[in-house]
Amino acid sequence: MKKGRGKVGTVAVVAHRKKSLGGGLDELRRLVADQGVEDLLWYEVPKSKKAPKQVRKALKEGADLVLVWGGDGMVQRCVDVLAGSGTPVGIIPAGTANMFARNLGIPEDLPEAVRIAFHGEDRRLDLGRVNGEHFAVMAGIGFDAEMIKDADRGLKDRMGRAAYFWTGLRHVRGELVTTKIKVDGTPWFEGEASCVLFGNVGTITGGIEAFDDARPDDGWLEVGVTTASGPIQWARTLGRMSVSRSDSSPFVRMTRARKVTVKLGRPMSYELDGGAKGTVSKLTAEVVPGGLILRAPEPVASGREGEPAAEGETAANGRRAGDRSADGVPAGKNR
Ligand SMILES: [Mg+2]
Repeated sequence: MKKGRGKVGTVAVVAHRKKSLGGGLDELRRLVADQGVEDLLWYEVPKSKKAPKQVRKALKEGADLVLVWGGDGMVQRCVDVLAGSGTPVGIIPAGTANMFARNLGIPEDLPEAVRIAFHGEDRRLDLGRVNGEHFAVMAGIGFDAEMIKDADRGLKDRMGRAAYFWTGLRHVRGELVTTKIKVDGTPWFEGEASCVLFGNVGTITGGIEAFDDARPDDGWLEVGVTTASGPIQWARTLGRMSVSRSDSSPFVRMTRARKVTVKLGRPMSYELDGGAKGTVSKLTAEVVPGGLILRAPEPVASGREGEPAAEGETAANGRRAGDRSADGVPAGKNR
């Protein structure tokens, strides 16, 4: 899929009606029309929960490209259906956080996001899957999901993610629960934990770089467990994550896996890409290698701001490249 391809066949737009970017959906339609689309399928939904049905419709109609308009919740719902379909997806980051788009170098700029969706490069990316449902950015069980549930009660839109994340510290206890984690069939953690996280990309909720070495195309899922409890330990953990490597925190243990099983002493909330999903006491997380075809920005040789710094790298900020160990030692260290 190169620049200058001629007519584009069937393009489906799946849009969260309440999300906005640039001149809104009217401008999106004009920009898409400018691309010489033969058939335009246009689906608007009032909430991301309604998106999967429309994506299935789009695939049935033979869409050659699916454009998703919305934030991470919308992307998650859509990629869950698109996984393994072979149909490329273009992301128009119209949400509050847009962590997936940001990690992949898709800017919050409507004309540019549309340009990338039509003329970018098809990249095969991994997805994660928790209890059968795909995610693109991260999944979490415990503290992290409790806070998102809180935020879903309206805080998120008023305050933005970073703010609610920190505000959350004040009223979520980060309660410890007996947790058993197996990594690729081998017992890896057994003890009291407040949160288990799975990462497909490096930067997560609130702009916190949780998984320093995460790459969405290496066939591995990053796994982290935190034993932090209470506001002070959590503040220390998050503070550490925002200035240095996550695995330097005394309350965090991280590794990398293809398949992880988690058993909890009692049911806890979990979340996928920032959307609360319910309560479980058993959870299976696995990587789905190459599960998604993303229409991504063309790779650039030297990292310009907002563009991938190098092959497979994210460029959320300039710190990242320097943080990586030169020999590429994986994140999973025995601590
Ligand atoms: Mg990976």
